[in-house]
Amino acid sequence: MGSSEEILSLRRELDAVEARFRSIVDRSVDGVIVLDLDGRICFANRSCADLFGRPVEELPGGEFGFPALAGETVEIDLLRPDGRKPVAEMRVAETTWEGEEALLVLIRDITDRKAAEERERALIREQSARAEAEAEARRVDILNRARDAIESTLDLDGVLRALAGVVSAEIADVCLIDVDDRYGPMRRLVAARRDHGRLALIRGLEERPARLHESSPEARVFRTGRSELVPEVTDAWLEEAGADADAEWFQICHAIRPTSLMMITLLAGTLPWGVVTLFSSDPETVYGPSDLELASELMRRAGIAIENARLFRLAQEANRAKSDFLAVVSHELRTPLSAIVGYSGLMEEGLGGPLTESQREQLSAIQRSASHLTRLIDQLMVFARLEADREEVEAEEVDAARVAHDVVSLARPLARRRNLTLLESIPEDGATLVTDERKLSQILINLITNAIKYTEEGEILLEVEAKEHEIVFRVRDTGIGIDADKLEEIFRPFHQLEDPSTRSRDGVGIGLSLVRDLTRLLGGEVSVESVPGDGSTFSVRLPREHVGGLS
Ligand code: ADP
Repeated sequence: MGSSEEILSLRRELDAVEARFRSIVDRSVDGVIVLDLDGRICFANRSCADLFGRPVEELPGGEFGFPALAGETVEIDLLRPDGRKPVAEMRVAETTWEGEEALLVLIRDITDRKAAEERERALIREQSARAEAEAEARRVDILNRARDAIESTLDLDGVLRALAGVVSAEIADVCLIDVDDRYGPMRRLVAARRDHGRLALIRGLEERPARLHESSPEARVFRTGRSELVPEVTDAWLEEAGADADAEWFQICHAIRPTSLMMITLLAGTLPWGVVTLFSSDPETVYGPSDLELASELMRRAGIAIENARLFRLAQEANRAKSDFLAVVSHELRTPLSAIVGYSGLMEEGLGGPLTESQREQLSAIQRSASHLTRLIDQLMVFARLEADREEVEAEEVDAARVAHDVVSLARPLARRRNLTLLESIPEDGATLVTDERKLSQILINLITNAIKYTEEGEILLEVEAKEHEIVFRVRDTGIGIDADKLEEIFRPFHQLEDPSTRSRDGVGIGLSLVRDLTRLLGGEVSVESVPGDGSTFSVRLPREHVGGLS
């Protein structure tokens, strides 16, 4: 040892080892850097040229520029002079370099890995956005379908059935609606998916009493107004829910086995009105907050439809009560009135002894008032019958010309009293039609009395025109006329254009409503044209053949 040759050979060996080590380090894909403790680069392998975008010879002696702490692995963003920004993972370990303490820094280019990760994240984001959009579209679709179904009827049970139908087709396997509307016994309505295996049993649920006033979960929801979501229906839950139920309840529950359920209050407007229980029998379906939200929105909309149907039913009932009242009152008034008409007739005939001239005048005033009252009461009776759909058509072959002549003769004294000329334009023959004569007379009388009532001076004309398939009756007057925007409302019952407190003319406002309803009953239509200040023309078109034929 110690000879210079030996030292030389050792040195060569050392150089060869170092060269091998360098070539290994240089071939490494990762960047390898050795830093002194001041952060200056002592060594950099070839891969660093790529990472830093500079010839590797330029690196030693320069500042590394990133804080390097032994034992750490961090991500760094490199910046190359050409503008590229590779992302790298940097690992730092302690080492020695030429006898001094130093740091070994390994830099791995992870730009591609990061890009792939980002692409994957974007894909997931896109997929979940699509799933969300699809769920939203389905939600909107269900709500629209439900709206179409429940708004298509004003019948309460119809609304409930439509609601149960949509729900059991779209959201739940079974939909149970328990109703306590305070007006009658509690009701229950059940709907299920058509292909549900336990359909017969589920239908049987309809027969079982609703439990809205017991200690059942549905009673709790009804009382508090708070919806309940049971993602997983356990045996324990069923035990508690059926605490006061009978054995049959448990049997049915176990047979149809709800796996997940929601209970929601049903309001009619703001009034608690019932509880809807929705459940799934499929263990795969687990209801969550978004299902509850959708179902609650559905029930909110149903609540509006229910309130409308409820108000409609109340209005119908009130209207029926009014018609019944009218029918009873007019009948009661008619009886004593017949006595007045009858006895005054006997007096006029002189059966009670001879009358003086002034007595005769007073008697005819009584008779005029009595017949006016009779007409009014008759109108009310017809109105009540029409409202209750009890007015029947007795169709026969009728000569329109004769009916028109009769009506004109009847109205003539009235027109004369008001100094009005009453004219007629009626074809002598060929104006027959199949219709109800009494109703036709009533229509024409109402129109002519109105024409007389609302005309101060001039003339009234009744015109009959025979067409091939219809007969047209026109009543023209030269009266006060009607504003264009009032032409529709005058046909509404009890609707008068003049203020009732200052009204000088008699009438209760049902004359034209009767004209329209009777005309429609006879298969025809009525229309009006008018120029305020100049007069009005009412036209009634009746088919020659009555739709129902001869009675
Ligand atoms: P009434 O005559 O008992 O008030 P109607 O139903 O017969 O009730 O008529 C409704 C309203 O239509 C009347 O109050 C009146 O304002 C208006 N009207 C009806 N006929 C005429 C007419 N020929 N000319 C002008 N206004 C009329």
